[in-house]
Amino acid sequence: MITLLPSIINVARENNLIINERSLTKKEVLCKCPFCLMDASRPKKFYLSLNPKENIFKCWYWCDLFYYNRDMQEK
Ligand SMILES: [Zn+2]
Repeated sequence: MITLLPSIINVARENNLIINERSLTKKEVLCKCPFCLMDASRPKKFYLSLNPKENIFKCWYWCDLFYYNRDMQEK
């Protein structure tokens, strides 16, 4: 069965995250971070990275430690 979009991307869309459409075909999809909002005033920056293959996401700016740690614990 082929899904049109990976689920984490759908979740992002359902939550009205601003996705960098040009990154949709890439391994990591970028969007505006709804947690720290550090990219809100920077039009070309997308700090939240979604990984559709592993269904994980992380913020490369303010939130990254938190998600990094959680990620490590799960492995
Ligand atoms: Zn963030």
